[in-house]
Amino acid sequence: MLADSRKGNLRFLLSLLLLLTTGVPSPGKDSSATPGEVGFDSQGSPEPTLDTPPGSEATITLFLCGDVMTGRGIDQVLPHSSDPRIHEPFVKNAKDYVAIAERANGPIPQPIDFSYIWGDALEELDQMRPDLRIVNLETSVTTSDEFWQGKGINYRMHPENVPCLSQANIDYCSLANNHTLDWGYSGLAETMETLARAKISFAGAGLNLQEARKPAVIEVEDKGRVILLSLCTTSSGVPSDWAAAENTPGINLIRNFSDKTIRGLAEDVRQVKQAGDIVVASIHWGGNWGYEIPKAHRTFAHKLIDEAGVDVVHGHSSHHVRPIEVYRGKLILYGCGDFINDYEGIGGYEDFRDDLALMYFPRLSSATGQLIDLQMTPLQIKRFRLQRASKTDARWLRDTLNRYSGAFGSQVILSEDNRLYLQ
Ligand SMILES: [Zn+2]
Repeated sequence: MLADSRKGNLRFLLSLLLLLTTGVPSPGKDSSATPGEVGFDSQGSPEPTLDTPPGSEATITLFLCGDVMTGRGIDQVLPHSSDPRIHEPFVKNAKDYVAIAERANGPIPQPIDFSYIWGDALEELDQMRPDLRIVNLETSVTTSDEFWQGKGINYRMHPENVPCLSQANIDYCSLANNHTLDWGYSGLAETMETLARAKISFAGAGLNLQEARKPAVIEVEDKGRVILLSLCTTSSGVPSDWAAAENTPGINLIRNFSDKTIRGLAEDVRQVKQAGDIVVASIHWGGNWGYEIPKAHRTFAHKLIDEAGVDVVHGHSSHHVRPIEVYRGKLILYGCGDFINDYEGIGGYEDFRDDLALMYFPRLSSATGQLIDLQMTPLQIKRFRLQRASKTDARWLRDTLNRYSGAFGSQVILSEDNRLYLQ
């Protein structure tokens, strides 16, 4: 437990830390988007995919979510914890994050079993039976002690805790983000080795630039192949020297949204793509807080679809959900929000409701990659475990998505079964 003298200050300090490490929040309605410019509902999109009768064509269903952060406090309650010493400005022991979460929401069993963190999400995955399960892994997986100096926040999960990913049958981890190199190059190498041993695909990081850029290819039995590329920008907090280079390990960091960048990504896709493959671009971008989508992000997402052969843009970095867009029949999730983490009890941003998470289940045409429909299941993170969200919280998510997605031509409805559906 925390010493009494520290308790009073800790909440404030953590709020401050979160601000320092994640940037200034920028809540507010997107001012750059053009209402009704795109979309496939009442605005008369040329490709009204949702009208496709169910079962009339071969489909592929994905499970997508945002940040899965199984390091730090989560790692401390898993069966094989890392050394709890951390190197943050205010918190020096990862176990403090367990204490903060317990103080907010009650006791957490210790140790938890490997499936605990997924909670009600497992039942939902069983029901939905997605063909692929895709997450952004927001931690390194290593015993390395070589923390990245001066970064301030370094997430680490012990490699022997990797069954917590396997238990949910995660197929793919995006590694192009601001935590993959938290424990140095040896930490990156061990992260990749551990995932490979667990038979979990990944992309977005590698021992050189060529590896970091190379997309993963996953065969879905009887349905075809899915190509996954992962990339990130410095706006998500990625240090610029984490970029992989010709002979330097690192991650797939894009420096700008230029046509040259798009051409490079298109070439990365072209090198592995075969006719009929579906392409998912997983991108860690933008700050942690705020609903505004920079115009440059929107233009870039469109170009990924128009010029790089991408079918689904899987955006993350924000701690909460961001707008949804369907562009020329293809799905863009600008920010999927947090999914698993140890942030409970850290104050300062309660209005953004980062305790609420969404499971995204887009169903795509196997032949074209076009979106057929999108179901989203609202969950709440409590005591390091995902549980089904209340009706009130599901309504809050619906209203928030609609408030900010309207400018992108998208609206969601809440059904009787407490799930959200894109209209
Ligand atoms: Zn991040």
